[in-house]
Amino acid sequence: MEDKVKNTIAALEKNKIPVKYFENEEKAVDFLLQEIGSDNSVGIGGSITIFNLNLHQILKDRGNKVYFHWLETKPEDADSARLIASRADVYLTSTNALTEKGQLVNIDGIGNRVTSMIYGPKKVIVVCGTNKIVKNVDEAISRIKDNAYKNSQRLKLNTPCAITGKCNDCDSSQRMCSVTTIIDKKPTKTDLNIILIDKELGY
Ligand code: SF4
Repeated sequence: MEDKVKNTIAALEKNKIPVKYFENEEKAVDFLLQEIGSDNSVGIGGSITIFNLNLHQILKDRGNKVYFHWLETKPEDADSARLIASRADVYLTSTNALTEKGQLVNIDGIGNRVTSMIYGPKKVIVVCGTNKIVKNVDEAISRIKDNAYKNSQRLKLNTPCAITGKCNDCDSSQRMCSVTTIIDKKPTKTDLNIILIDKELGY
């Protein structure tokens, strides 16, 4: 295990955020399917990591009720899914960056994902590839801004980063970067857990 991974695990534990480490996606998904009860409702926050692991479909096929706005086609249904997800038994998402001090750093446009990570669902499980580990909060913000254009292009947004690949702290009406959160320690009333996978997942 790399030093940066060891440091991050130790720091998360110090911050009272339980963490499980897996060498690959398969073992992590097996663990998650044991951890999430088949009668649990599951909310999912926008996450390429969760989507690519196909967890939304695996859980649905198993009989879980899944609320994931990416699966909705109408804006009003997506909003409804965001709200119900924020009160689910289990909320699944990733983090934009994880520091070696055990902090979760995220930037959202709407804010449903970051608020649900802090308060609302009974249990929150954050699945994160080791590619998202950075030294500190400054590096975390840089990492997020350096990768933001991928989301902008994926969502076909009219933002400068979608065209140039670089952030210019835009004033676009479609700006994705409106809310920045740093989770320093376990949020008091939230059962927040990290699944750390030693792979490159998401961006
Ligand atoms: S602030 Fe604007 S340009 Fe910068 S990453 Fe966000 S959406 Fe892109």
